[in-house]
Amino acid sequence: MADGTYADFYRRSIDAPESFWAEQAQAIDWHRPWDTVLDRSHPPFSAWFVGGQTNLCHNAVDRHLAERADQAALVYVSTETGQERTYSYADLHREVQIMAASLQSLGVGRGDRVLIYMPMIPEAVFAMLSCVRLGAVHSVVFGGFASVSLAARIDDARPKAIISADAGSRGGKVIPYKPLLDEALRLSQHPPKQVVVVDRGLVGWAREALRDISYADLRAQHHDAEVPCVWVESTHPSYILYTSGTTGKPKGVQRDTGGYAVALQLSMRAVFGGKAAETFFCTSDIGWVVGHSYIVYAPLLCGMTTILYEGTPLRPDAAVFWRVAEQYRANLMFSAPTAMRVLKRHDPSLLHRHDLSSLRAIFLAGEPLDEPTGRWVAESLGKPVIDNYWQTETGWPILATPQAFPEVSSRMGSPGVAMPGYKVCLRNETDGAPVGVGEKGVLAIDWPLPPGCLQTIWGDDTRYVNTYWSTYPNRQVYSTFDWGRQDADGYIYILGRTDDVINVAGHRLGTREIEESISAHPAVAEVAVVGVQDALKGQSAWAFVVPRPGQESVSEASLQAAIAAHVDAQLGAVARPQRICLVTALPKTRSGKMLRRAIQAICEGRDPGDLTTLEDPLALQQIPDAIARP
Ligand code: ATP
Ligand code: MG
Repeated sequence: MADGTYADFYRRSIDAPESFWAEQAQAIDWHRPWDTVLDRSHPPFSAWFVGGQTNLCHNAVDRHLAERADQAALVYVSTETGQERTYSYADLHREVQIMAASLQSLGVGRGDRVLIYMPMIPEAVFAMLSCVRLGAVHSVVFGGFASVSLAARIDDARPKAIISADAGSRGGKVIPYKPLLDEALRLSQHPPKQVVVVDRGLVGWAREALRDISYADLRAQHHDAEVPCVWVESTHPSYILYTSGTTGKPKGVQRDTGGYAVALQLSMRAVFGGKAAETFFCTSDIGWVVGHSYIVYAPLLCGMTTILYEGTPLRPDAAVFWRVAEQYRANLMFSAPTAMRVLKRHDPSLLHRHDLSSLRAIFLAGEPLDEPTGRWVAESLGKPVIDNYWQTETGWPILATPQAFPEVSSRMGSPGVAMPGYKVCLRNETDGAPVGVGEKGVLAIDWPLPPGCLQTIWGDDTRYVNTYWSTYPNRQVYSTFDWGRQDADGYIYILGRTDDVINVAGHRLGTREIEESISAHPAVAEVAVVGVQDALKGQSAWAFVVPRPGQESVSEASLQAAIAAHVDAQLGAVARPQRICLVTALPKTRSGKMLRRAIQAICEGRDPGDLTTLEDPLALQQIPDAIARP
């Protein structure tokens, strides 16, 4: 793969996508070869490897049995319950067949949806793999969501069965799932007839006769099951996954089978530099796209060992990630800036207490990686920290520094360059014309999207076209709804979301720029800036600041003055927030993204809208209190 330069590799993916992707598709097994690599007949839709038949579970599990049956496939580490367990590929094969037989016994088959509402336990991975084994479509709902969010997702996907557990655990606190699920089923218009409960023995649970089944009972019935993979069309949906809901109502991203498998194996090798038999440690959750792609599918498709970690970054102490990485000789790690910012409040020496000689790099994605955090991790760890940018919709990175091509180096502040098949172009917001080098534009991708990206929004083709493809005429440009700027070498810098720009007295300011400036102040742990309607200036910037520990002796007024002076000096007085409010926490989505739209709504006295993905209601409640203070 690394023969030739990245520039050539990328160019081929754009100039001759059919031959490029047909070559990549050799890396997975096909039951039947495709007739057409790329069906371009219905833009903005596209379909990959049409006529081909394959199976994700076969490629992630069965295919490896000949060579690596005894190699670790899945390592489960729970700092919540103290359990650690390693499953070889042979073990995984056995467990997945048992779960698949169990689902079959409930009538689940090709095309049926199965909703997975589970903590980070091995059975969650078995459940995902057994669904795709049967040609069923999984819809994983993050275990941290409560009844209302869950009910909305049940009604959207209309699953035939739900797999859940008695409870999860977070920071040592048991969170019963079953009562939340029962309530969601009560709220739902389309509840399934069958619910499977993995009983971890954490809490008791009430069994509803005829509906609820304990997985232990099913497992005992099917302990020696052999369930062959169901060959499905390449375009057969493998799963539904909802976006984070940072900007509005979550969208049910629908993924295909063949294109996803091909794209993920390419991304693991070219983007992350992962190889068979190596160990990948991704600290995300299976409820998010990063977990789908880089805890479950990509490492297994490539014959690697994947680590499934149940726990927080801080328990038993802030070195736990590195302890796990040392113990299991992780070669590559993948985490989120938000997790690193949490660690940054602790002693940096914790990052080199462990032997991390196996570790080559740590990748971070999901939100902007601010420079202070990026540098702090790189220096404390003594390893490269590699940002990458993508979306639930795309399933794998749009921008990154491809590790298989060492001539491409990473640049601080930029997630990198366009990945294969992504025809990235920065476009003018109003007419869609490409902007020049160094100019700010909307990060857009020209049709067709590469393999692995969403096929549509589940059950709603119209919303798919209207949401993503209708910003510009022709409907041949996909909008990411993020702002970017490209330098002369093709590196792109993300400047925030298109709805995060504010207009102060005719000046267009990115809230992200103001946030970056404020977060560089030594007294600041975290900050959110929003634009608030202002009769005089159109909009004004309001900042909500979480001070670092140790600032308690400094008065609120002097901290506010210091931050204002800092912004004046860095960006100019025009960017100085009209209000700087101190809070102890900021409202975020469950995946750690700032809910600026909700803060903004409260500041403007509006209803904060869809809050189903809000992490901590108390953080949001602080906002009206903070603005009510003079
Ligand atoms: P919704 O679309 O429902 O409002 P969301 O966009 O937060 O939610 P995700 O798909 O989880 O849902 O997040 C993708 C978004 O996260 C990107 O569009 C971008 O705004 C942000 N993002 C992801 N990675 C990076 C990165 N490396 N740098 C900057 N921003 C990033
Ligand atoms: Mg989005």
